[in-house]
Amino acid sequence: MKQGKIVKGIAGFYYVSVAGSGIYECKAKGAFRQQKLKPLVGDNVQIDIINEDEKTGNVVEILPRKNALIRPAVANVDQALVIFAGTSPKPNLNLLDRFLLMMEQQEVPTLICFNKEDLASETEIQELREAYETSGYPLYFLSAKEEDGIAPLREALQGKTTTVAGPSGVGKSTLINLLAPDVQMETGAISEKIQRGKHTTRHSQLIMLDEETYIFDTPGFSSLASDFFEKETLGTLFPEFMEYEQNCRFTGCSHIGEPDCGVKEALAERKISQSRYNNYVQIYNELKDKRKY
Ligand code: GDP
Ligand code: ZN
Repeated sequence: MKQGKIVKGIAGFYYVSVAGSGIYECKAKGAFRQQKLKPLVGDNVQIDIINEDEKTGNVVEILPRKNALIRPAVANVDQALVIFAGTSPKPNLNLLDRFLLMMEQQEVPTLICFNKEDLASETEIQELREAYETSGYPLYFLSAKEEDGIAPLREALQGKTTTVAGPSGVGKSTLINLLAPDVQMETGAISEKIQRGKHTTRHSQLIMLDEETYIFDTPGFSSLASDFFEKETLGTLFPEFMEYEQNCRFTGCSHIGEPDCGVKEALAERKISQSRYNNYVQIYNELKDKRKY
């Protein structure tokens, strides 16, 4: 019996990294299966070794989880890092806000990273700063290509397990390769075992930066459905609305058409950004329209 961490799961196989002995290809065989529990990437597990030379085994126990996310399906997460490019591709802030909502709903603190700072104009950077500085989310502007502005981010990741996500083309792989220079090797070891290298982008993978620091590389996304949210509680998922909501005249104020709305007052005073508010209204209306059918 050995203890390890699931670093990847593909087609019924779990790849379990055991400190000092490498990666074992395992199937799920434990009593946890009766409880309808499925192993997740990020799980700490006990494995029974089948063959030490072939590095095969069975996952027989899932150790207690700190948490388990639905999107992405990973376990034991401390925080999320969402990456967009400052420009090229131009960041879709509605998509970014949807990602933030998804993490709020799952109670995962999130850091926002705008990459390709080297390509972005002053104006573009200023706009992004204005859009997010009142949101309360930690903001990182950096250039993975020029290796500029990486240190503060590294520090924020230190000692934690962070799920990393972003649309494709924003420089997520470039940044991860920078943070974990030997990740290529690790990915290679797994793809050699399963003979399907290209699947690495469709599945989440846990990468160790050091003994106590991990990141989940998760598949890129190009859209996020709003079916996860309810319009009645949407406002509660915008953390910066909270302190102003108490000034709303009506309980259950939607912050859209009502008079004496604390959120709209804060918006007028630029304590809430126009971009975040617009996306709130857009998603709210989307949820309202869906109800009609
Ligand atoms: P991913 O799809 O998010 O994993 O993006 P990649 O890491 O593959 O990067 C997409 C493209 O953007 C590549 O051509 C990278 O060289 C480029 N790129 C990544 N980071 C930066 C950056 O900070 N500045 C610039 N100018 N280009 C970058
Ligand atoms: Zn209101």
